[in-house]
Formats: sequence, structure tokens, C-alpha cells
Amino acid sequence: MVKAIVGANWGDEGKGKITDMLAETSDVVVRFQGGANAGHTIINRYGRFALHILPSGIFYPHITNVIGNGVALDARKLAGELQAVTGQGIPAPNLLVSERAQLLMPYHILQDGYEEERLGGRAFGSTKSGIAPFYSDKYAKTGIQVCDLFDEDRLRDRLFRAVELKNVLFEHLYHKPPLDGEALFRELLELRELLRPYVGNAVVFLHEALKAGKTILLEGQLGSMKDPDLGIFPLTTSSHTLAGFGCVGAPVPPTAIEDVICVTKAYSSDVGASSEPFVSEVTGAAGDELRRRGGDKGEFGATTGRPRRVGWFDAVATRYGCMVQGATQVALTCLDVLGYLDEIPVCTGYEIDGQVTDLFPTTPQLMKAKPVFTTLPGWKSDIRGCTDYDSLPENARRYVDFLEEHIGVPITLVSTGPKREEITHRIPRI
Ligand code: GDP
Repeated sequence: MVKAIVGANWGDEGKGKITDMLAETSDVVVRFQGGANAGHTIINRYGRFALHILPSGIFYPHITNVIGNGVALDARKLAGELQAVTGQGIPAPNLLVSERAQLLMPYHILQDGYEEERLGGRAFGSTKSGIAPFYSDKYAKTGIQVCDLFDEDRLRDRLFRAVELKNVLFEHLYHKPPLDGEALFRELLELRELLRPYVGNAVVFLHEALKAGKTILLEGQLGSMKDPDLGIFPLTTSSHTLAGFGCVGAPVPPTAIEDVICVTKAYSSDVGASSEPFVSEVTGAAGDELRRRGGDKGEFGATTGRPRRVGWFDAVATRYGCMVQGATQVALTCLDVLGYLDEIPVCTGYEIDGQVTDLFPTTPQLMKAKPVFTTLPGWKSDIRGCTDYDSLPENARRYVDFLEEHIGVPITLVSTGPKREEITHRIPRI
């Protein structure tokens, strides 16, 4: 059976921790979209890790970790990350890289940076990891698949065709130096040797694993709001962040996904640009305090180090986010972070042009939305590390009940700290 662990919001919901925890009882963990442009933070007995491209199952020797065809594969970053984790004492992970995955090329990273520079004040706040140019090239059919590395004539042909196009842009739009195709070709041959031990037929592997009754975890990156179709376009990412895309990007059959675990934080955080609509944002001293207390080391991007924007829990966005993911259950993380507050606002509606709605709107409407808050009493105590849901303070449990009622999906896991074991199991009330 297949379980997907995906984000209900803007990313950074704590999916890495939940994946790391659920991996114990799984056989395969698959990354099926995105690239090294976001990170998962995992804290376990080996230490603290920020994974960007490696799946979060790498800490268990019994897991096969798959980088599916839907991923933007930055092979240099992958090699660096493999070296970093094995250097920290992790046994060499069992890794399978799909031969159908496409390579995120150095020119994608350059193009991303040049385009942000060109846009100036109108920039999207890209992480400049090359994600948008990579997916544009994939759909324009000028991308390079991992399997192309093993056919040098084909590789050379595809690379030089791509370079020809890029050089028009680089020289004439961005006024930058042209690419050296030969140097890129040599670099690809080096990367091929790094990838060689891991490359294989992930499509057959996953289907065979299912036939053999194995449990597969799909690990999502970012969250619903960043999906280019159903999120806050164009302030989204360029790959589908929804569990459903696992059918293409892993791939697994649609009927095999039995469980969609949507992860959401007990408050909101977003690492996106300041131009992004973020309705329940808290700014000023209150925002600084929430940011400082949030996550395991404050709310700062795992990839970029950027301070994340923070806000109160947004029930409007989260209900929508869970709906488009097809959530069967919700894991609520970071409840411990809110223990310092006397009162906790929850955004339960958006006011748009004087009308209050609880339906998540399209981006032009969202830009005009003002939050409508319902305030709940805090619990004023430290619940960090609690593992027994019933022993949480009554107001903490009431807060979770309130969120569940508004999201409309059972909350089954409530996380009380960044470590793997800091989690409570909850019996849903809906
Ligand atoms: P991901 O991209 O969804 O995997 O999320 P990130 O790892 O980027 O961000 C989540 C942050 O919250 C990380 O710093 C985690 O260590 C931390 N975290 C996860 N769960 C909890 C929790 O229950 N409590 C606290 N305090 N931090 C948590």
C-alpha cells in the first residue's frame, strides 16, 4: 500500500520528521517532485540533518530510498548530500535513482539567478536552485534524462541543442557570457560516474514492491499552496506538490494510494517572498517572538537560511490545502511552540471586499483578503516532548479539537517537539 506524506500549506510543515518517524514501518520512501530547493529537518539519534534531495528514509538500513522521475535531479547536490550524511556516521543509504528522472543542469541555476536579477523588484523570490527553468525545459522537451547519460552520442546531441537555445537567452536577454558546451559535456560524464551505482528502473521496482505487499511512503516537498495549478499561482513552485502527482512522479498507480497524511503546523510559516499573499501573518514584535520560538531552531529556511514569515493558524487555507491533497488524516506539528501565549488567534475567515468567506479564493482575491480571527485561550505551559495526548493541558486539547473541526479532517498525530519520538497519537473527534 502507498501512504503519502504531504504539506497542507506553504511547506516546512514538518513533513521530514513525520516521514522519518513513519519510515520505520515502511519499506520504500520516494521523493516524487521538486528538487533541492527546500529542505527537511530531521533530528534523530545520529544528529540533526537538513536533507534537500535525499528522501527522509535514509536513516533506516531496511528502506529503499527512491528519487522518482518527477524530481529535478541536481546530481552535484545529491553527491554532496550523500557525502555529508555518510560523513556523519550514517551507513551508506540504499538509494535508487530513476533512469527517467531529468537532470537539473548548472545552466538552470544560472538562468534562475539571471531571471530574478532581470525582474528586479518584480522577482518571485526564487531560491535560485534552477527549479522553474528546469521544469520549463522538461515540458518544452529540451531536458536531459538520466538514461541519456549512458548514450554519449544522444547526450551530446541533446546537450548541444539545449546549449544553443540557452546561449541566445544568456547573451541577448541577460547579457551574460555564453555556455561552454564541451565543458558541460565533460561535467556530465563525471556526474554519470557518481550516479551510476544508484541508477535503475524505478517504475518496475515500485510496481513490483507493491505486488510483493510492501509499504511505500511518498514524501512530498513544499505544500498545497505552492502547487502551480491549485496553489497561489504564480507565487508557487513549478512542480506539483500534491499527493496525486505521486502517480506520475514516483510513479505508483492512483488506486494504490490509500492514505494521505497531510502535515500542518499549529501556526503558519512561509519562506516565500514578501510579495506573496499570507493572510494570517503576524509581524512586529509578536511575529519576531513566534519566529524565534518556532521549529527546532527558530523559523529560518533549511535551504536558504531566510527568516520565514510567520502567522497564526490559517483554517481557511488549511482546509483547502487538505481538500486538494485528498487528506485522510492530519499530523499537526509544533504544538509545543505555542505554550508561551495567553491567547491564540486562529484565522477562521477571510474578509474580501467587505464580505467574509471561509472558502479559499483565487490569487487576485487572496491579495485583498484580510484575516478574521477567533481567539482561543492558551495553556501557558511547556508541553515539549509530551508523548501522551490525554496528558496535554485541557486548553491545548481544545485548541486541537477546534482546528480539527475547522479543517474537517481527523487529526491523528500531534507533534510536541522536533525529535522523532516527540509525538502523541490522538483519537479524532470527527
Ligand atoms: P518539512 O520541509 O515539511 O520537512 O519541514 P522543515 O523541516 O523545513 O520545518 C519544520 C521545522 O519544524 C524543523 O525545524 C523541524 O525540526 C521542526 N519541527 C518539526 N516538528 C516539530 C514539533 O513538533 N515541534 C517543534 N518545536 N519543532 C518541530
